[in-house]
Amino acid sequence: MAAANGQYDAAHLARNAANFAALTPLNFLARAAAIYPDKVAVIDGPRRFTYGEFGARCRRFADALRRRGIAPGDTVAVLAPNVPALLEAHYGVPMAGAVLNALNYRLDAASIAFILGHGQAKLLIADREFAPTVTDALARFGKKLPVIEIADGAADPRGTMQFAEVEYEDFLLEGDPAAPWSPLQDEWAPIALNYTSGTTGNPKGVVYHHRGAFLAAMGNAITFGLGPDSVYLWTLPMFHCNGWTYTWGVTALAATHVCLRRVDPALIFAAIVEHRATHLSGAPIVLNMLVHAPDAVKQRFDHVVEASTGGAAPPSAVIEAMERIGFRVTHLYGLTESYGPTTICAWQEEWEGLPLAARAGKMARQGIANLHLDRQRVADPETMQDVPADGETIGEVMVRSNTLMKGYLLNPAATDEAFAGGWFHTGDLGVMHPDGYVEIKDRSKDIIISGGENISSIEVEEVLYRHPQVMEAAVVAKPDERWGETPCAFVTLKPGAEPVSAADIIAWCRANMAHYKAPKAVVFGPLPKTSTGKVQKYALREQAKEIGA
Ligand code: ADP
Repeated sequence: MAAANGQYDAAHLARNAANFAALTPLNFLARAAAIYPDKVAVIDGPRRFTYGEFGARCRRFADALRRRGIAPGDTVAVLAPNVPALLEAHYGVPMAGAVLNALNYRLDAASIAFILGHGQAKLLIADREFAPTVTDALARFGKKLPVIEIADGAADPRGTMQFAEVEYEDFLLEGDPAAPWSPLQDEWAPIALNYTSGTTGNPKGVVYHHRGAFLAAMGNAITFGLGPDSVYLWTLPMFHCNGWTYTWGVTALAATHVCLRRVDPALIFAAIVEHRATHLSGAPIVLNMLVHAPDAVKQRFDHVVEASTGGAAPPSAVIEAMERIGFRVTHLYGLTESYGPTTICAWQEEWEGLPLAARAGKMARQGIANLHLDRQRVADPETMQDVPADGETIGEVMVRSNTLMKGYLLNPAATDEAFAGGWFHTGDLGVMHPDGYVEIKDRSKDIIISGGENISSIEVEEVLYRHPQVMEAAVVAKPDERWGETPCAFVTLKPGAEPVSAADIIAWCRANMAHYKAPKAVVFGPLPKTSTGKVQKYALREQAKEIGA
């Protein structure tokens, strides 16, 4: 084969053990523990772990797994809220060469049993808080599975075990903190298995590799502005794309993790004040909870808290309201398949001078490719041609990145489909603006086609969120004899809101957007959500169908 780089292809310029090492986020912890052994790494209520302790606990974790027969390539499942054990699992499990399957704790027992089976878990570590679900899931799972119980949140941690023989702290003591962890040979080795939340179908097991986790953690830490003095408050579930890789990224900077068992505005505001938290993340619904928290829990703080949001489109009204109460919002977009954020709505100086609403409008766009992405495009999935950057022509968002999954576990057909044509197909429809910013209009399954016109449900929701009495809104297609489909709005009013009729809502929409986009039907009430705060549009579509044409 002809040399591609001439004289630079000489044998003595090749990779060797000294100049090439497998990239892995595990090194972040080894480094932080060695350099800052006394710095606070983890805060959990009254508990504090320094980086020295955090490192030692993770090494014990890995060794304890090994002693229990866990081998490289085995899956270790963890079902826990944002507690130290789950954070430690992000290091302890892969340090043993195993693969972390962080489970969504809001799933029912049947789904958990399905995932344990599909992922072929060899061990389960679960929090006592979920004892009934765990017991039920294990019964459904049928096979014998070693289980470790996390009891640190229980009123009586030393009390009767609910579903396991060994408590997590005792399990850690089985391991030797001095045991060396086997160095990683291949950066392509699996590190985590994450099941998608299944908003569009059956959950799929997304497999991450060490290299991607390293790169995504670095990229996300840089673009979110994490530094050594950052205090990251865990309002985002660590099970969701490994906490958008911040489980590793915060450690990369030797910053401080603040664990939080529950996403409760009272606890969040209290933690911001008590620990001077500087950064937090969450789905737009979490920001909305903070905005609408009762005055009694809405504590004031004198520093700016950086809030990154994504997972669903944040209405600009929510961004605006967050800024008013002291947060600076960074909008991210991504998927489980891409280790969380692929785009960031990067801030531009000239937006500074815009009125708050216009600024929030710019920020509600999903944005530009994140630092760690190779490329992002909006293209026609049939022809694979880019759509013009006119902010109007809709295409599918596609990406290429070192931070994409290896594939879906035991699902070659879905993997091939997702990577067809050498691009990862997100299944999201968007436009490319002339300034290079992408704006998502809908998931391909959610777009409403009315009388041949595409209506973006996100655009209609954006107008609904600006109605003074509306707290939340979701719009889906309703079958219609004449138009094919028409938008149907599901609306939750603010607590203590004045009564509002469907006609009022429709009139508001007609006054603020093209008439054909206005909903033809409005339903009031709470919105069904997934565990990650996404509205379950398929459930609403079923409801809309029942309302009839
Ligand atoms: P699931 O696919 O099961 O819903 P994911 O968490 O992987 O689970 O969801 C990724 C999807 O969430 C994206 O494909 C997109 O539709 C939606 N999403 C994520 N972030 C945003 C955002 N900032 N704006 C709009 N939609 C978003």
